[in-house]
Amino acid sequence: MSTIIAYFKGIGQGLNTLWTGMKVTGYYFFHARKEIITMQYPDNRDTLKIPERFRGRVVMLHDQNNEHACNGCTMCEMACPNGSIKIITDKILNPETGKVVRIIDKHIYHFSMCTLCNLCVQACPSNALAMDNSYENSVYDRSELTFVLNQPGSKIRDNVKD
Ligand code: SF4
Ligand code: SF4
Repeated sequence: MSTIIAYFKGIGQGLNTLWTGMKVTGYYFFHARKEIITMQYPDNRDTLKIPERFRGRVVMLHDQNNEHACNGCTMCEMACPNGSIKIITDKILNPETGKVVRIIDKHIYHFSMCTLCNLCVQACPSNALAMDNSYENSVYDRSELTFVLNQPGSKIRDNVKD
């Protein structure tokens, strides 16, 4: 007997929950205002405005000469709380000064682990990094979420300190 009571009690609770949800839906259906209508994504992709401050993912800034400001100091790697960044550097001889200098080989960024905290951007002493506001980042293969942030063929700008 108690099983039957529990069964109908469960149905009653379910209907009550449904009614509570539908009350909210009904309210917004009849009181819809412009600012609370759900956006029809992805139909609105062309007109969608993503705020500038939105943190999509970490990128390295390159200028029109394919030059960046990263000297491979590893500050961003150390600042990252979850190991999303790995800096691989190289050493080359500067023919002008005769000194061996450190250059970035690969700035590896594991987007799949990144929490978009922005700490790496803030830690970079030469403002080499930024957050872009991309938002369509889903992929089927996790390995596609690992990026080398320094572009192929890029180099450090002349005026960046070692
Ligand atoms: S945004 Fe945060 S979590 Fe992502 S790479 Fe930078 S420091 Fe790491
Ligand atoms: S991105 Fe900035 S903090 Fe990271 S290695 Fe390059 S210069 Fe250093």
